[in-house]
Amino acid sequence: MQTQNQFLFTDAQRNVTVYIKREDAIHPIVSGNKYRKLKYNLVEARAQGNAALLTFGGAFSNHIAATAYAGKEAGLKTIGVVRGEELSEKIEHNPTLTFAVSCGMQLHFVTRAQYRQKNDAVFLDGLAKKFGDYYLLPEGGTNALAVKGCEEILTESDAAFDFICCAVGTGGTLSGIINSALPHQKVLGFPALKGDFLKDEIRIFAQSMSWELIPDYHFGGYGKVSTELISFLNGFSADYRILLDPVYTGKMVFGVMDMISKGYFPDYAKILLIHTGGLQGIQGMNIRLEKDKLPIINTHV
Ligand SMILES: *Cc1c(COP(=O)(O)O)cnc(C)c1O
Repeated sequence: MQTQNQFLFTDAQRNVTVYIKREDAIHPIVSGNKYRKLKYNLVEARAQGNAALLTFGGAFSNHIAATAYAGKEAGLKTIGVVRGEELSEKIEHNPTLTFAVSCGMQLHFVTRAQYRQKNDAVFLDGLAKKFGDYYLLPEGGTNALAVKGCEEILTESDAAFDFICCAVGTGGTLSGIINSALPHQKVLGFPALKGDFLKDEIRIFAQSMSWELIPDYHFGGYGKVSTELISFLNGFSADYRILLDPVYTGKMVFGVMDMISKGYFPDYAKILLIHTGGLQGIQGMNIRLEKDKLPIINTHV
C-alpha cells in the first residue's frame, strides 16, 4: 500500500521544501505504522495456526487499539495485557480501552511490577496457561516482521527527498525506514521518550549507518505535553488541515520546524515527514488535558 505525500511549504529563507507522507490515512484506527507492523505478523500468526494474538500496552496505546481492530478483521481472538490494575474499573472512561473491548479484545490488567516481566519466559508461560496458545506481539509491536512491514513505507517515488523524518517509540518503524532509504538519504529519528537505549534497539534491525537520533524534542518524556506543543498542533491543523497526534508525530513535526528555523538543514534540502498516525490517542489526551484545565487539541479540521 502506497500513501500520498502532501506538500506543506517551501521556506523563504533557505528554500527548504517539506512534504508529509499521510500514513495516517491508511485507516482511522489501525493507522500509520501500527498497520505496517501488524501486516506480516498477521500472516505469520495464521501460518503458525494460532487463533489468538496476545500483546502488551499502556492505557492509551495505539498498538492495543490497532491489534484489537486488526484481530477482529482477521478473525483472530485478541488478548491485551494492560499496564495498571486500577484501570480495570475505569474502562468506560478510557476511549482506547473501550474501543479495544468493542472489537472483542479480552483485557488482562496487571500491576506495573508484573508488566515489567513482559519479556520473561515464566510470565509468558503463565499467560498461555490462562489464555491458551497465542501468537506473541511484543509491546509496541516491534519484531523482525514488523520492521519488514515498515520497509514498505518508503517507495521509489520518494527518491527525491534528502531527509526522512520519523517519530521513534521502540525504533521498529525507524529501522524499516532506514533499511529502505536510498544511499543519498539521511534518516532522522525523533524519540518520543527519554533515554539512551534506543540506539542499541535500532542497531539490531537497521542495515545502514545513514541515520541519527534527535533527542531534543520529547517534551519531558513519553506522553508528556506542554501548552506550547498543544498550540503548535492546533496551529498546524488550522494551517494544513492535518491532525497530528501529541505523543509521536506532533513532537517530531515540532522538532523539524524548530530545526528549520535554526538553520539545521542545508539550502534547498527536500524533507519528507512521516505521519505515523496514532490519531485515536487524541481523545484520551484531551480527557487528561481537560482534567488539568489545560487547552485541548482541536479535532475539527
Ligand atoms: C507506535 C508509534 C510510533 C513509534 O513507532 P516505533 O516503531 O515503536 O518506533 C510512532 N508514531 C505513532 C503514531 C505510533 O503510534
